[in-house]
Amino acid sequence: MSSSNNGLLRRGSRGPAVADVRTRLVALSPDHLGDRSGLGGPEIDAQLYDEALERAVRDFQQRQGLIVDGIVGPETFSAIDGARWSLGDRILTHTPGHLQHGEDVAALQERLNTLGFAAGRVDGRFGPNTERAVRSFQRAYGLPGDGSVGPDTFRAFSDLRRSVSGGSSTVLREQERVRRSGHSLSGRTVVLDPGHGGDEAGATVNGLREADVVLDLARRIEGRLTAIGVSVVYTRTEHTCPSEEERAALANRAEADILLSLHCDSHDHVDARGVATFFFGRDRRTSWSAVGESLADILQREIVARTGLANCRSHGRSWRLLQQTTMPAVRLEAGYLSHPEDASRLADPGFRDTLAEAVLVSLQRMYLGEDDTNATGVLHLGDLRAYLASGGH
Ligand SMILES: [Zn+2]
Repeated sequence: MSSSNNGLLRRGSRGPAVADVRTRLVALSPDHLGDRSGLGGPEIDAQLYDEALERAVRDFQQRQGLIVDGIVGPETFSAIDGARWSLGDRILTHTPGHLQHGEDVAALQERLNTLGFAAGRVDGRFGPNTERAVRSFQRAYGLPGDGSVGPDTFRAFSDLRRSVSGGSSTVLREQERVRRSGHSLSGRTVVLDPGHGGDEAGATVNGLREADVVLDLARRIEGRLTAIGVSVVYTRTEHTCPSEEERAALANRAEADILLSLHCDSHDHVDARGVATFFFGRDRRTSWSAVGESLADILQREIVARTGLANCRSHGRSWRLLQQTTMPAVRLEAGYLSHPEDASRLADPGFRDTLAEAVLVSLQRMYLGEDDTNATGVLHLGDLRAYLASGGH
């Protein structure tokens, strides 16, 4: 955004900055913007922020996991600006003071994380964590470890794309470190917080009630957790709906290791869909849960890899439940009941099993921490059980 335009752009705004946003949106790939009707053409007043432009901005925000408000502020503008890059378009490198930012960086981070090189949060900014992960990747694959991503490193990524799949028990067996109690899930306490409850149904679409969907999901997660020796505590029953404060207080009294809050989303914008995770994070220096962030990231990746739900990413929030719990807490928004495809999948018990499996594996991976080198989307409960039963051999 030009320096002359510090304000937010919204419906009714007018000027060259509006025309600039419009041009950038028109140039985006269909991945980033679906409906672009009324965005361009001779009859359009390019400098006016009209209804069509607002619709396009909302669509873009939804796909990026941004707040869907139809307003272009600094965050949305920077996402629009970064969205034109795809991985391989330019050389990526860490430039302190002026971080490269874009979809290509986000794709790189996803790729590194999926391969087991911890690039940290997928935020589309090439910072020191991304550089460190690139260096480890390069060393592991016999490339000069210079930390910048040029043609050789791109080639290594695309070669690997074909080879990463399956083979989980072996991977686990090699990870002797799981045996250390610090890495084990067994003996821990997990609080499951199915949203809403009692008379409060949450989002309800075509008779499908959010409260029921997430309670059923919680039970499937509970079954898997208790099978490996984890204690599970619920914040509510079928018939109760405690406040967020009461839920947090209960989790604190239980001295739980983790709280997982389960919700589905809904939105009056019909295109809204996909999965998002949230952890406590308001200010990176002072109010930020690193463990919550790590679990939210892993969970997000595991669910996307296993279900193909649209990736609305993980986000720091200072919501009451996240703020008032003393243990790492993550809120999962597992798809939109208002989106026909998401809803029909959520109605399917088999799909909820897949979600439950993703939760279990994510919790285990979180405790593996730095030692977690598993590829995303390949571990299953059976592997963990067989591994634990074999005493880690
Ligand atoms: Zn909800």
